[in-house]
Amino acid sequence: MQVCKRCLYDENIPMISFDADGLCNYCNQYDDMCAQYPTGKEGMSILEAEIVKIKKDQKNSKYDVVIGVSGGCDSSYMIHMAHKMGLRILAAHFDNTFNSKIAVENIKNVLDPLGIDLYTHVVDNQEYQRIFKSMLLAGVPECDAPTDLALAVTHYMAASKHKVKYIWEGHSFRTEGITPPGWVYMDAKYVSSIHKRFGDGKIKTLPMFWLKKWLKWMVIDGIKKFRPLYYLDYDKEEAKKMLAETYGWQWYGGHHMENRSAFFADNYWALLHDIDLRSCEFSALIRSGQMSKEVAEVEIKKPKRMDQDVMEEVKNRLGFSDSEWDDMINAPKKHYTAYPTYKRTFEKLRPLFYILYKKGYVTRSFYSKFCFPQSFNN
Ligand SMILES: [Zn+2]
Repeated sequence: MQVCKRCLYDENIPMISFDADGLCNYCNQYDDMCAQYPTGKEGMSILEAEIVKIKKDQKNSKYDVVIGVSGGCDSSYMIHMAHKMGLRILAAHFDNTFNSKIAVENIKNVLDPLGIDLYTHVVDNQEYQRIFKSMLLAGVPECDAPTDLALAVTHYMAASKHKVKYIWEGHSFRTEGITPPGWVYMDAKYVSSIHKRFGDGKIKTLPMFWLKKWLKWMVIDGIKKFRPLYYLDYDKEEAKKMLAETYGWQWYGGHHMENRSAFFADNYWALLHDIDLRSCEFSALIRSGQMSKEVAEVEIKKPKRMDQDVMEEVKNRLGFSDSEWDDMINAPKKHYTAYPTYKRTFEKLRPLFYILYKKGYVTRSFYSKFCFPQSFNN
């Protein structure tokens, strides 16, 4: 088994290759992204120029920027930074009805003292439970995809309603990492086709990321995406400390764990598909010098912390009997390629998405992952 000389990725990672020095293509991609998105003085001057542009473009609106909040570390830190930089923020939150108490408190504790308005969309809980159940019955790893898509839509809804042309996302490739293509896939057609096949009831209150709507938000409304953490020397441990001291913000014990369905998806469901998201996160932290490989190798061997309460909550709320639950857990696992998706359409529209990426409407990760064919041998 070949393992990358630098990170934790090995031959089991989809679409991995190694160079002559034994470094994986994901590490090389990381270095490439570090060059494209510099930090330090250079990063700060890019960020400052962006802020000048935003303030000029948004001078006739109530807000400068929409920022998604989850109660997690990345989005809370971004709110703090954007506020310090003088931006008038509209926070946006999608509530999938599985929020932890800590998440709700964190959102409030960060926004209230800064006087930041919050745009929230809450999905009907029964409807979300039916959709979530469909994703589990479909046997695909990304059971939380309906939420990930809906939160992106919620940001667009907030931006479109309040005439804001800028959405800031809290993603950091230096701390979260680069998930290999094929681990996680999502689009509206995928979710809708799975729900049609395995679920019941219409999708009415879940914001759906339909391609037509998306193109309208980009091309007609001119809404752009920006990831400020790409330009900042973002140290997650330091950020957690600062947030706790400044706002009474609380750590919830893991990446994306502020939400109970995300907790279930990452800590339990993904593992059933042989996906350990920690290898992605730890590899990122190794590359950015925030974790040593030795520590990561020890940490990843520790069993993931699954909370029995979360498991019971998912099982009961989704209406699984014990035997149905066991059948679902033991059913053959599927891949997104087993269901209708937009993937081929994204590939066909690659020239358009390239322009949209270059002009700042779509992220580099969307363009590089969704617009190119993927091949899998595992
Ligand atoms: Zn590597």
